[in-house]
This record gives sequence, structure tokens and C-alpha cells, in this order.
Amino acid sequence: MQAISRLKELLRTPKKIVITTHQKPDADALGSSLALWGYLKKYGHQVQVITPTDYPDFLAWMNGNDHVIQYDQSQKSMEISNKIIAEAEVIFCLDFSDLKRIEPMDKPIRYAKATKVLLDHHQGNTKFADIEFWDVKASATAELVYDLIIDMGDKHLLDIPIAEAIYAGVLTDTGSFKFPSTSPKVHMVIADLMTIGIKAAQVHRNIYDNNSVDRLKFLGFALQEKLIVKPEYKTAYFAITSQELRSFNHKTGDTEGIVNYALSLKDICFAAIMMEKPDCIRISFRSFGNFSVNEFANKHFNGGGHRNAAGGKSMLSLAETVAQFERLLPIYQNILLEA
Ligand code: 5GP
Ligand code: MN
Repeated sequence: MQAISRLKELLRTPKKIVITTHQKPDADALGSSLALWGYLKKYGHQVQVITPTDYPDFLAWMNGNDHVIQYDQSQKSMEISNKIIAEAEVIFCLDFSDLKRIEPMDKPIRYAKATKVLLDHHQGNTKFADIEFWDVKASATAELVYDLIIDMGDKHLLDIPIAEAIYAGVLTDTGSFKFPSTSPKVHMVIADLMTIGIKAAQVHRNIYDNNSVDRLKFLGFALQEKLIVKPEYKTAYFAITSQELRSFNHKTGDTEGIVNYALSLKDICFAAIMMEKPDCIRISFRSFGNFSVNEFANKHFNGGGHRNAAGGKSMLSLAETVAQFERLLPIYQNILLEA
């Protein structure tokens, strides 16, 4: 049976539902989750969004934000979440397809008795779900939520808060409609959301014009002091110590997007930012053209994502991670110079 028919059958009667998404949710992760939350509630389902970790303040405007449980916030939130997860009948997994991405709540989700439904557009699907809406060509998971609502025959249930959450996901995951994933269909979906009456300019402002002084000064510092350019590999990167993050009062989301400045350099097609976090070095990779950062992150940094945007981590020190990264560049020189 088709995934959509199976889902219709599953949701025919009110269910206990959990929606979850990846660590450090971005606008697509949270937007797709809260859009789906708003939609499923209209059917009288009991729905709870649980995120593994916190997320940036610039996403807090989304409708439903006040009802989200952050799993790792406290012992109590873990206990409450574990109970809700164990009792759930359906668990929607949004914007990730590898349970590693939801640590530390991967085990409760893995062992939950609920039917698991995946909506995702990342490469590297580990096939843990029972029903899948998985499309690596989709611009965003939020686009898949839109498709799901339409395919369920429920276009009339799309309201402004749902549409704004979907818009936020597509807006950010397409780099403001500039990445190659921005198909004609994406523009048609957006036209539809605008027809419903979303305030697109306000969503833009909520997300992109929400800088703190610390964040903007950190960006200035990173560009002035930390940008390393390797023209011979068409590569540019940043390596940021935990002390540097602390000195700018780093908050979740503050470093989001900085890697794109490295990629914006003329003739640069591979960019990275390595950040020293308490438990590991977190890395974001971006590329332009044929060089697959998904494969690079997967092969060398225990990560993955999309061809042109991926993440990973290293358990080495920051200096050793930088050295490893630099040692890899000559191996990829030919591909990088052709990209
Ligand atoms: P970012 O660099 O913004 O954290 O992530 C870029 C893209 O790669 C996003 O779509 C994100 O979900 C994905 N991503 C980030 N880190 C990882 C990772 O460790 N594993 C996988 N599979 N995907 C990741
Ligand atoms: Mn996404």
C-alpha cells in the first residue's frame, strides 16, 4: 500500500502522537514539526513535539513553540518525555533519517512501540521508520509536510500559522530560494502559502533580523580574525575555540550562517566552520557545484546531510581537527579545482 494510504488508515481515529526532529533544530526542523503539529491537532489527535535539544531564539515566534518539550533540558523533562514516547501510538520523525541525529533521545524512540513515520530530505536514510515520505530532491522537510497535507486531501486545513511555519522551513533550507533545490514547484508552494495570507516579510525579519549585538560582533571577529583561505583548494574555513565562543556570550544559533560567508568568496567552492563544543568539535560544511560535502562529512567526520550542505563532528582537539581537514584537502584537490 502507498505511504499516504497507510497514513490515512493509521490516522483515521484520534491517536497519541509524538513529533520529533534533529538536535539543535533549525527553521526547517522546527517549522516542519510545528506545521505538522498544527495540522494533526485539527483532527483531534493528542500531539506533542519533543526536540532533543534547545534551538535558537529566532524560531520562538512559531505557533506552538510554547508547547514544545526540550528533551535534554532537565531530568524531569527526560522522564516526562520518555513516558509520552513510550505511550505514543504514532511517532513522526522529521528532518533526519538517522537516529544518531536525535541523541540523547534515540534509544527511547528506537524502542518505542509506536508506528514510526519519517518525513525527510537528507541523504543517508538508515531505514528505521515503518512509513516513509523520504525525498532527497525536496527543498525542505517543510515542503514534504505541505505535500502531505495536500495528499491527505486537507488543503482547506492549511491556516496562516501552519503556512508560516512551512514557509520558514522552505525559506531557510533553500537559502532564501537560491539553492538548486528551488524548483518551479517550490515557487508554486510558496505562492499558495502567500495566497493563504502569510506575512512573508515578517517571517523573514523574525529569522534574519534578530541579531544580538554579541552575535553581530562575533561575525565581525570571525571574518576579521578567523577566516582561513586556501585558494589552491578553492577552500575557506573558520576554526573557533570554546574560549572565543564564550567571550562573545555564544548562544544556540549564533554561529548559524557564518560558514556561508566563506562560501560567498569569489572562486571558493568548499567552506567549513569548526567549533569547539564541550563534547566534540562540531563542523558545518558547505559547497557549491559537484563537490559532495555529504560524502566528505560521512567519510571523514561521522556526519552527513545534503550534497551542498552537511555537518559532522570530530572527537580530536580543535588543532588536530584542523590538521586533519588540511591533510584531506590535497586528496580532493582535483575535484575541488573542477567544481
Ligand atoms: P548545519 O551545518 O547547518 O548544522 O547542517 C547542514 C545540513 O546537514 C542540515 O541539513 C543538517 O540537518 C545536516 N547535518 C548536520 N549535521 C549532521 C550530521 O552529523 N549528520 C547528518 N546526517 N546530517 C547532518
Ligand atoms: Mn531540512
